[in-house]
Amino acid sequence: MLKNCEKCNRVFAHPTRSMCEGCFEEELANFVAVKEYLKENPGASVAQVANETEVDVGIIYEYIRQGRLDIIPSDVKFHCEICGAEISSGRICPKCKGDLVKGFRSQPVSEPEPESKPRDRGSKVHYLDQIKDRR
Ligand SMILES: [Zn+2]
Ligand SMILES: [Zn+2]
Repeated sequence: MLKNCEKCNRVFAHPTRSMCEGCFEEELANFVAVKEYLKENPGASVAQVANETEVDVGIIYEYIRQGRLDIIPSDVKFHCEICGAEISSGRICPKCKGDLVKGFRSQPVSEPEPESKPRDRGSKVHYLDQIKDRR
């Protein structure tokens, strides 16, 4: 299936990618550069990362939004979706995350149906034998 690269608009063929080979590799190289830079400079700001890696600020924000970076630039802040507290990663603050986990735990755990034990099967056979005897 032929499609146009979302970046350079060149026609290419690939079952899953939305970018041509060249752009895909460039994108991957950009991502690795940003990731590696942040690993070595955990306190760096977005502007610093963009300068050093020559990756567009918008692209860096895109990586952050997609949750692809383990370490994010120091001046990027997220807000908890539940209480609005400032957090450095993810969508929910650690406190709300803890509450959520507790909420899940307090929910009644439905016991699986008790399976008939071999002992029960034995008594059933015995019961059938009794019926047979009565005949
Ligand atoms: Zn391309
Ligand atoms: Zn919260």
